[in-house]
Amino acid sequence: MLKVCRTCLSGCYKRSKCFSGSQIRNKHSCKLLVVGGGTGGCAVAAKFSRKLGKNELVVVEHNDHHYYQPLFTLVGAGIEKLEETWKNEKDVLPENCTWVRSKAVKFDPKNNSVYCENGERIEYEFLVVAVGIEPRFDKISGLLEGLSEPSSGVCSIYSPNYVNNVYPTMKNLTSGNAIFTFPSSPVKCPGAPQKICYLTEDFLRKEGKRDHVNVIYNTSLPVIFGVKKYADALWKICQERDIAVNTRTNLISIEPSKKTAMFENLDNPQERTTLAYSMLHVTPPMATPDALNRCADLSNDAGFAEIDKATLQHVKFPNVFALGDCASSPNSKTAAAAAAQTEVVFENLQDVMRGKRPRLSYDGYASCPLVTGFDRCILAEFDYDLKPLETFPFSQDKERYSMFVLKKNIIPTIYWSLMMNGHWNGPALFRKIMHLDFTSKDK
Ligand SMILES: Cc1cc2nc3c(=O)[nH]c(=O)nc-3n(C[C@H](O)[C@H](O)[C@H](O)COP(=O)(O)OP(=O)(O)OC[C@H]3O[C@@H](n4cnc5c(N)ncnc54)[C@H](O)[C@@H]3O)c2cc1C
Repeated sequence: MLKVCRTCLSGCYKRSKCFSGSQIRNKHSCKLLVVGGGTGGCAVAAKFSRKLGKNELVVVEHNDHHYYQPLFTLVGAGIEKLEETWKNEKDVLPENCTWVRSKAVKFDPKNNSVYCENGERIEYEFLVVAVGIEPRFDKISGLLEGLSEPSSGVCSIYSPNYVNNVYPTMKNLTSGNAIFTFPSSPVKCPGAPQKICYLTEDFLRKEGKRDHVNVIYNTSLPVIFGVKKYADALWKICQERDIAVNTRTNLISIEPSKKTAMFENLDNPQERTTLAYSMLHVTPPMATPDALNRCADLSNDAGFAEIDKATLQHVKFPNVFALGDCASSPNSKTAAAAAAQTEVVFENLQDVMRGKRPRLSYDGYASCPLVTGFDRCILAEFDYDLKPLETFPFSQDKERYSMFVLKKNIIPTIYWSLMMNGHWNGPALFRKIMHLDFTSKDK
């Protein structure tokens, strides 16, 4: 007979046991607690679910939907549907794990405890922090108002709540300025703000409207991209396609009723410019969730979990690790980086569980498939030193259709089938095979 969980009514009995029952309302203990059931949290939980016994692994995650966020860019361009980007959290979490369907509101690492919104306190022996970073649309005056009105011209791929309005905004664009912004804060996938710019530009060309629209990319960064090899290729594309790039230019406010946006020059904050827009694609400032950034014991001044950038172990609490966007390691915040970090956290945490020192080192690997049009993409791959770390045996700074297919079809399949089951640690092995290199220190 089909049983339904009496606590959450979601059928969570299927894959993971619901943890909101009255018998454990106040306090629970586990060996490993993973906070955050997104990209990094699920991947690490999947690996440990095969090592730990029943009830030893707990995941705290309040969202019912698990999003594959890299597809949001393609949803914004009308290439994919939002429905393709998510699965139910209960179907993504591993079998042998207890899902606490609540939000962590307080970390207490001195007492090995995490407090949840539902009133529960969870004691752990080991903790993995994987709470990601959140878009803060509220930090730009007028932005929430603009996003709430579908015909305002204001849009963003950075939330499942708003991404569906990007393509209609693109389609309605006939003249004026199409402005794309990059904030003065760390962001997840620093390439995405310009990918949606290139896609819009390509769309305008295909529609025969390009001559009537000025395409402007205003970025807070001093460069178009952090890695010189790819930055050179991207500058060339912008020049060839007449995309105006303004560096050190930060969006500070919007007046949706007037369709104007105000920018500051970060090198001279007194200098402000107001631009009219027909389309304004905003990449909002981002920050770690409050539970983490308010915990001075766990986080650094910027609010990120303060870990050793090689071992991913917390600098003060040896039984705590962090990975993904919320970690202080200075890599580009991408799912690709989280994949490479998963194996390092898995192996190093097991070392610590056995009373040993962590052995593996994360090299800062991140990748960013820079979609530059509806059928082409530059696959950027690099390490902590911003040196290219390319998988394929050809120079990856060229626009290629094959890389577009990789981004659109192959990587999502790898994500759902391999990474979410704990079987994908990034392409390091393929890189070695393709370059016939078995001598480097890469795993
Ligand atoms: C538009 C866009 C495009 C992108 N493109 C790419 C790309 O092309 N390639 C790429 O590699 N990456 C891309 N990324 C980035 C990638 O999605 C993230 O880097 C990756 O998801 C980070 O994983 P994470 O586990 O750190 O965070 P997330 O996957 O965001 O997961 C964090 C989880 O923690 C949960 N959480 C937060 N606070 C709490 C709390 N207090 N208690 C419990 N749970 C909590 C959240 O609900 C969430 O489920 C893109 C992202 C966006 C938004």
